[in-house]
Amino acid sequence: MGCIFCNIIEGKSKAEFVYHNDELVVIKDAFPRAPVHLLVISRKHIPTLLDVINDADVDLPGKMVTAAVKIANDVGLSEKGFRLVWNVRTHGGQTVNHIHLHLLGGRQMKWPPG
Ligand code: 5GP
Ligand code: ZN
Repeated sequence: MGCIFCNIIEGKSKAEFVYHNDELVVIKDAFPRAPVHLLVISRKHIPTLLDVINDADVDLPGKMVTAAVKIANDVGLSEKGFRLVWNVRTHGGQTVNHIHLHLLGGRQMKWPPG
């Protein structure tokens, strides 16, 4: 089995990379829900946002947000805007248990989300 995002980070599964640094990678979502749908993924396997609280990774979510905003700006989403989404566990709709932040843009988003 294994983790699909760990496999992508380790080069065992293919993905389209947009950005990477020592702590995170940014890839195109394989099933895009908007004209721009990117995933900011921690290199370290951390299951959910809940798992970074009270440990050495506490700065990671902020770094992921900063990367997402920078990329949003770089790909031309800053003027009209965009949406960042953290899905957390079952009710949050999380399907891959490896922490990631969605960057969605290029169309009008709805509220509330489904
Ligand atoms: P979640 O539902 O956990 O918040 O988000 C997981 C996201 O990963 C989904 O939007 C899904 O489309 C995407 N995804 C699942 N498997 C793959 C894959 O193998 N490659 C890529 N690039 N995205 C994937
Ligand atoms: Zn993983």
